[in-house]
Amino acid sequence: MAYDYDDTNIFARILRGEIPNDTVAETEHTLAFRDIRPQAPVHVLVIPKGAYVTYDHFAAEASEAEIIDFTRTVARLCNELGVAPGEGGAGCRLIANSGPHSHQEVPHMHMHILAGKPLGPMLAV
Ligand code: 5GP
Repeated sequence: MAYDYDDTNIFARILRGEIPNDTVAETEHTLAFRDIRPQAPVHVLVIPKGAYVTYDHFAAEASEAEIIDFTRTVARLCNELGVAPGEGGAGCRLIANSGPHSHQEVPHMHMHILAGKPLGPMLAV
């Protein structure tokens, strides 16, 4: 499977420091920052620093170190933001839109952390 990564996408530009972001966590392989158009009281985007388009691309081609770092950073952030259910938080929704039917707007793999109020059903159909 071939994945074409467009390095002009907005998250690639954030990673290159070309546009500012409100960083909440950074590790060797992962960056997390607040969404510019928050859809919940807590709305954080977590992205790998590597050039991956979608979740399946990341899972297929990222190193184990990148995958572990990303996964643990998401969990650590949920904990630090006070929304991890295992740590007494009220819970959160993790969304990784991937590909056209998901309405993925930015073609750099990312996980949304949404929380801070009851979020209702997953999809409004
Ligand atoms: P997607 O629809 O691809 O899953 O989500 C992309 C997200 O990126 C959207 O929630 C959108 O608000 C956010 N976003 C787009 N451009 C920027 C930006 O320049 N900075 C930040 N922080 N978020 C952005």
